[in-house]
Amino acid sequence: MSDIEQLVAQATTEFADIDDAAALEQAKARYLGKSGSVTELLKSLGKLEPEQRKRAGAAINSAKDRIEAMLNGRREAIRLAALEAQLKAEALDVTLPGRGLPTGGLHPVTRTLERIEALFRSIGFDVADGPEIEDDFHNFTALNTPENHPARSMHDTFYLQDAPGLLLRTHTSPIQVRFMEMHKPPIRVIAPGRVYRVDSDATHSPMFHQVEGLWIDEDVSFADLKGVFTDFLRNFFEKPDLRTRFRPSFFPFTEPSAEIDMSCVFCDGNGCRVCSHTGWLEIAGSGMVHPNVLKAVGIDSEKYIGFAFGMGPDRLTMLRYGVNDLRLFFDGDLRFLSQFK
Ligand SMILES: [Zn+2]
Repeated sequence: MSDIEQLVAQATTEFADIDDAAALEQAKARYLGKSGSVTELLKSLGKLEPEQRKRAGAAINSAKDRIEAMLNGRREAIRLAALEAQLKAEALDVTLPGRGLPTGGLHPVTRTLERIEALFRSIGFDVADGPEIEDDFHNFTALNTPENHPARSMHDTFYLQDAPGLLLRTHTSPIQVRFMEMHKPPIRVIAPGRVYRVDSDATHSPMFHQVEGLWIDEDVSFADLKGVFTDFLRNFFEKPDLRTRFRPSFFPFTEPSAEIDMSCVFCDGNGCRVCSHTGWLEIAGSGMVHPNVLKAVGIDSEKYIGFAFGMGPDRLTMLRYGVNDLRLFFDGDLRFLSQFK
């Protein structure tokens, strides 16, 4: 075998063993580089006779072409191998179950508020909102609770330290006061929202929710209050046989005033642990709006009359879902809250 054929054979074996692109380029330099074996052979042609030179030149060029073809083939093989390895490493197992994005849900108390709003909207009530930081006038005075009146001690109020006269509203009644200041009768409105009192145990939280309702017109009676509120409770609890009873009570902003009880939703009034075996559950306060409240917001108390009620949506939520500790609603524990999704 000639020197040239030997070189080609040697390159063939050497290239076949290389599986790295950089190493292949180094090997190429040893044959085809400036001082590579093939290049050296070409340089030596000058010493030959013209006839010999022609034959040897053709043989060397043919060898050079073959070596270059081998290099290209090997380059492509290495590239494909690298690609395959990469695809294998980054392979997706499409048979794995998806991870999924956790979805949120409405808080159970929010669900209750939306349910209450929908029920009252369906009988023509507006839904009003107002500030949680209130002034003394809207929270107390306009509601027939003058300064030093004992009724103020009924609420353990959070007062703002650096803002005399301002407080965290203790009920949502100030929303109704503001609504009456801005609207003329007939007025039909409910006022849902957060309220604050210094109180905390299994059934009381310093922050809780209230929904108050108000209907002012020329001929609204206590019978309307009974009808509207009983109907609301029956729809809210989906119990058409639910009964209510009105017990005389006192609130400064209503006269006469009444506590509203409903037949226990757990035992249908037969008596159980939840209702302390009485068959009744306290559910709301209510009454006919005191003339002084109408006067305070500029409504003619000789011409207009109306009823008001206030209830706790947190308690309604506890009763509807059978939850026995109010604090669970506000601890933010997803194990509890996600059950209501
Ligand atoms: Zn019961």
